[in-house]
Amino acid sequence: MPQIEEKKNVREDLMERIVSLCRRRGFIYPGSEIYGGLANCWDYGPLGSQLKKNVKDLWWRTVVQERDDMVGLDAAILMHPRTWEASGHVGNFSDPLVDCKKCKQRFRADQMEEAAKCPEGGQHEFTEVRQFNLMFQTQMGVVQDETSSVYLRPETAQGIFVNFKNVQTSSRKKLPFGIAQIGKSFRNEITPRRFTFRTREFEQMEIEYFVRPEEADASFKDWVDQRHRWYLDYGIKADNLRLRAHGADELAHYAKGCFDIEYMFPWGWSELEGIANRTDFDLSQHMKFSGKDLKYFDEETKEHVTPWVIEPSGGVDRAVLAFLVDSYDEDETVTAKGEKDTRVVLRLHPQLAPVQVAVLPLQKNKPELVELSQKLYKSLRLHFLADWDGTGQIGKRYRRYDEVGCPFCVTVDFDSLEDKAVTVRDRDSMAQERIPLDQIFDYLRKKVFCRE
Ligand SMILES: [Zn+2]
Repeated sequence: MPQIEEKKNVREDLMERIVSLCRRRGFIYPGSEIYGGLANCWDYGPLGSQLKKNVKDLWWRTVVQERDDMVGLDAAILMHPRTWEASGHVGNFSDPLVDCKKCKQRFRADQMEEAAKCPEGGQHEFTEVRQFNLMFQTQMGVVQDETSSVYLRPETAQGIFVNFKNVQTSSRKKLPFGIAQIGKSFRNEITPRRFTFRTREFEQMEIEYFVRPEEADASFKDWVDQRHRWYLDYGIKADNLRLRAHGADELAHYAKGCFDIEYMFPWGWSELEGIANRTDFDLSQHMKFSGKDLKYFDEETKEHVTPWVIEPSGGVDRAVLAFLVDSYDEDETVTAKGEKDTRVVLRLHPQLAPVQVAVLPLQKNKPELVELSQKLYKSLRLHFLADWDGTGQIGKRYRRYDEVGCPFCVTVDFDSLEDKAVTVRDRDSMAQERIPLDQIFDYLRKKVFCRE
């Protein structure tokens, strides 16, 4: 099947181009690079950290700020060790693992067929399969003993469950309502891979939405729709997104249903976010292990209810990677000299773009242009993620901003001094429009923030 082979190569090459762009332009660097790097750790650079912040801000705005039935939380990464007994992580959160006795390499038992030849010669010589817990364990305080052992949280969700009563009583929320949280989690994966897709340290955006048992099915469907739409709203192409229902064999024993929102990454369909109906499992477990009453009391009916939970759980790093992959484009253009040229452009949604407006004086050595463009830049940066750049030919500057996804370049030229207008150049169409200076703020505000 030569055609499929060819397509696969293009997709793999695409991933290399994106990793290279990320490093070159300051989105994502290999972690601890000057020390030779630390396996599977990545650092977000100036543009990457802004893009990541934009993803988190838009998520928070959608699921907390613009809803009456949602509140936020920021719980500690370190939690009481009993938490992880109640959640099942101490007992069950493990991967089956084998070691090679000769070369000491470690493999997941379900991925042994992927293991290459043993570097010590011949085939690997595997040990028996044993269970390896994926939680990072560390010591709290200076004394190393059993009682001071704590875990880095493997998910943010439990911080929400243990605070259910605190949040419900202090915010006086009535069912149904939800709690949202963004934060780092840690899993000691045996085989992390694929750039920032699967890493040992990662960031989650999680919601626990508490409902009456009889409302659970409808709420579950609603959250699947809402979360699916969110990725579409911020520019992911519909063809690259799909919903996949978990089969009975994939479901946790307590879960009643689970959908994955999957993205077509260059290596194939992979999970961006999971939405699960977790029944009353979590709150029941914490009541059992803590001895505290976490039931919801309905003032009107005088009922005590153990709420069911719908959990939309997404990965921040995965969302960032999907937005980068989906927006990456190369198109054929013609340079000012009439030569054919390939343009690299990130077609990021204006609200995701790490630079939303670039202000460019046509020439750097003309003080009047520098002064006017600086003045404009300083007023725009109060409202937009703005940048100022006076170095190099204007065409080259446009290309630099195309490559980091900046949707609008505003050029101040000699005419600007006379007609009090500037040229706005659109990233996607490359069309240029003359806009009066006293209208530029409204023009950009509509273009960047206008929502249907
Ligand atoms: Zn070996």
